[in-house]
Amino acid sequence: MKQYDVIIIGGGAAGFFAAVNIGELHPNLKVAILERGKDVLGKVKVSGGGRCNVTHAEFIPQELTTYYPRGEKELLGPFHTFMTGDTMGWFEARGVPLKIEDDGRIFPTSNNSQTIIDCFLNEADKHNVDVLTNQSVISFEKINTQWSISTKTDQFLANKLIVATGSNPKIWSFLQQLEHTIIKPVPSLFTFNINDQRIKDIPGVVAQNVTVKVVDSKLESSGPLLITHWGMSAPSILKLSAFGALELAKRDYKFDIEVNFINQEFETAFSDLKDIKQDLSKKTVFKATQFDLPKRLWKTLVLSADITEDNRWADLNKIQLEALAGQLTKAVFKVDGKSTFKEEFVTAGGIDLKEVNFKNYQSKIHDNLYFAGEIINVDAVTGGFNFQNAWTSAYIVAKNIDN
Ligand SMILES: Cc1cc2nc3c(=O)[nH]c(=O)nc-3n(C[C@H](O)[C@H](O)[C@H](O)COP(=O)(O)OP(=O)(O)OC[C@H]3O[C@@H](n4cnc5c(N)ncnc54)[C@H](O)[C@@H]3O)c2cc1C
Repeated sequence: MKQYDVIIIGGGAAGFFAAVNIGELHPNLKVAILERGKDVLGKVKVSGGGRCNVTHAEFIPQELTTYYPRGEKELLGPFHTFMTGDTMGWFEARGVPLKIEDDGRIFPTSNNSQTIIDCFLNEADKHNVDVLTNQSVISFEKINTQWSISTKTDQFLANKLIVATGSNPKIWSFLQQLEHTIIKPVPSLFTFNINDQRIKDIPGVVAQNVTVKVVDSKLESSGPLLITHWGMSAPSILKLSAFGALELAKRDYKFDIEVNFINQEFETAFSDLKDIKQDLSKKTVFKATQFDLPKRLWKTLVLSADITEDNRWADLNKIQLEALAGQLTKAVFKVDGKSTFKEEFVTAGGIDLKEVNFKNYQSKIHDNLYFAGEIINVDAVTGGFNFQNAWTSAYIVAKNIDN
């Protein structure tokens, strides 16, 4: 039986951040990470397309919370303790320079997630954290004041136990046996599958300023939209998938969306089109792209409005102008299923927020049991916010573990 002051289950982002900060803030504590895989930090490695989007350039706590469909209210306090600026300072103080990209995402300047992994491994080594791989935890229980942890091969004892196993169904169901409530997990951050003639031949096209609404729902979001081989992606869609994670799961990922490609009212677009008809009467509609749309998107929307390739603006009747304004501002598409967004995907659901004390991330049900990272029912839109949740929760556990 191996004895530690603190055992962390899970050698991922949250587990490592907790371990190395405990090592630094409480050097007297003996800490171990138990990781089921033969390697640690697997998701960090593949994250952000291999570049690891560590956080996001949003430095106001209230604003930062709005990126979290689950956890918005609860994260406000924690972000006052450790948020994006702290994350940047933490990495830079340990020799990992970061850069902010135009869209606010923050990456190591190396553009390589291995830099982050190397930093964590060095820190763990420096602070004598035992990193034990091939240790799949199968159960843990309280024996008097200590936690007894069983893996497939070994037995451990610890005064404090931190569970940072991400979206792991086995650990969630095990925690249910320990009287914790688990909010049913559903995917978040996915792209929409759409089989529609209008977009079939234009994968790769991006419209920059789009609003997407789910029909018969309050769900709505704005931002860039990317046409893919399977349907639609990019921030406008990913935000909907995150904020609508539960509702869209209930609809079994079959629903209609209304896309406004130019972010204008129908009436305004119709009136603009009437003006364009006057101004460009001799030009062919198909070739005279308007509203700063990508050419290929304009062409497909024109054809969908029953306008032919050689129609001139002067040829258009009211019905055609209305049809084009409709395609531009309220084009309906049928979504049938979802696909994984490979840059980043997360799971909504996990330990009920009501059962976690957000001052120290301790379980409200069991003393000396803590949680960090995606295991809790917190998740965010894409852009570095999910890692920020891992860093914030892990840092706060580390800071308070000695109390
Ligand atoms: C492809 C992809 C790319 C992503 N890119 C980004 C990004 O760029 N930016 C961003 O903010 N977020 C990104 N995310 C989300 C981010 O990776 C997660 O939110 C984050 O990793 C959660 O950290 P965690 O430590 O809670 O869980 P994880 O990183 O999943 O770590 C959990 C660890 O626990 C271990 N474990 C599980 N069960 C057991 C057990 N029984 N015993 C022992 N060990 C166990 C697992 O093997 C794993 O190592 C991405 C996700 C994916 C899938």
